[in-house]
Amino acid sequence: TIEECRKLLTAEIKTFPDWPEKGVNFKDVQSILFNPELALITSHYLKELLPKQGANNFLFNKILCFDARGFLFGFDLAKASKTPMILARKPGKLPGEVITQSFQKEYGLDEIQVQAGLINPGDKVLIHDDLLATGGTAGAAAEIILKCGAEIAGFNFIMDLSFLPGRKVLQKYVDNDKIKAL
Ligand code: AMP
Repeated sequence: TIEECRKLLTAEIKTFPDWPEKGVNFKDVQSILFNPELALITSHYLKELLPKQGANNFLFNKILCFDARGFLFGFDLAKASKTPMILARKPGKLPGEVITQSFQKEYGLDEIQVQAGLINPGDKVLIHDDLLATGGTAGAAAEIILKCGAEIAGFNFIMDLSFLPGRKVLQKYVDNDKIKAL
């Protein structure tokens, strides 16, 4: 069950205290990848969290995933839902014309980029990343989607650090039941 999956993840994901900064408890997705059975279970239940109506009618037509740990399971979700996958990357990695969005990090500003032309008016875009912390990264993706005149279909994470305000931040964009995490 999904509860068993959650328990397994809590037990198996290694936490590195005070990394990369003091005060941050880093949740290492390597622990999932190194355990093929856990990786399969994680992938399976992430798919269960995808917004859909009925068995196979997915309520999004594109999925945007973050550099770099968001790519790992994001590609699984794209294949399972047969939707185009969009890479959101750190500055300077993407060729061609890009859309840039800056956002507040704990220490200073950061930026993400998406290639221009991939998101269009009428699109319903699902956002996936490994972990929701302050919501800055996922919020920046939401802003890019809105700039392109598209809709945010929802958010999908492996982990939600619920003691941080990420979920509150994302509720600016969608209802709480569209912000899913294992
Ligand atoms: P935020 O923008 O604060 O919601 O942070 C989310 C992004 O930073 C994701 O791409 C995560 O991979 C990474 N991140 C932030 N905090 C952590 C953490 N405690 N453990 C692992 N990754 C984190």
